[in-house]
Amino acid sequence: MLTSEASRRGIGMTSQRTRERLIARLGAAGITHPDVLRVMRELPRHLFVDEALASRAYEDSPLPIGHGQTISQPYTVARMTQTLLEHGPCDTVLEVGTGSGFQTAVLAALVRRVYSVERIASLQERAQHCLRLLKVRNVRFRHGDGFLGWSDYAPYDGILVTAAPRGVPRALADQLAPAGALVLPMGEGDRQVLIRVTRTADGFDQRVLEPVSFVPLIAGVA
Ligand code: SAH
Repeated sequence: MLTSEASRRGIGMTSQRTRERLIARLGAAGITHPDVLRVMRELPRHLFVDEALASRAYEDSPLPIGHGQTISQPYTVARMTQTLLEHGPCDTVLEVGTGSGFQTAVLAALVRRVYSVERIASLQERAQHCLRLLKVRNVRFRHGDGFLGWSDYAPYDGILVTAAPRGVPRALADQLAPAGALVLPMGEGDRQVLIRVTRTADGFDQRVLEPVSFVPLIAGVA
């Protein structure tokens, strides 16, 4: 049996060498932020997916996590995180759509505190368990509807949404700190784009970044 340290380090298709190939690919695709690359290199993504899929955890692709949901593609996780960090100092971040908890763990390694909302209770519990195993302690989880944000801890320097609404949810924009940035996929089907909304002195500024593919943001809890 593998010790927990060994399972964390990975063997074969989850080994450090396999991970390095992914990091090289992210670099070639435009991920340049050294801290983002470091965290993506260190985090054991294979622990966030079902054991049967562990051998594919360091491919640059989304993978199923049950309930019709997916763990986001590593490139997308890196790109969204980089977009947030490039914008300015990020002390507190709200994440909408915890899913597997992988993006949550990436954020937790880079900012002081992460607040993460998930509408499917069993996914949230699994993610929470996984982050506990990795001794990540600066995340607060909530089972709820992310369309509403999480007003208790607002405003946030950054808000990252990992499922696509049709338009910018008003509550999320309202929970941005002055000069904060909201990074989210938007649109339907194969016509989604990644958007960065920033709070300015007289309102909001919106910039389209690139085409993406996410599951839809769904109202209500499950
Ligand atoms: N970042 C996650 C992505 C998971 S997929 C990962 O890499 O694992 C998107 C997640 O958003 C799913 O878990 C889905 O249940 C969740 N979601 C969809 N609509 C939501 C809503 N309104 N509030 C909170 N979570 C939502």
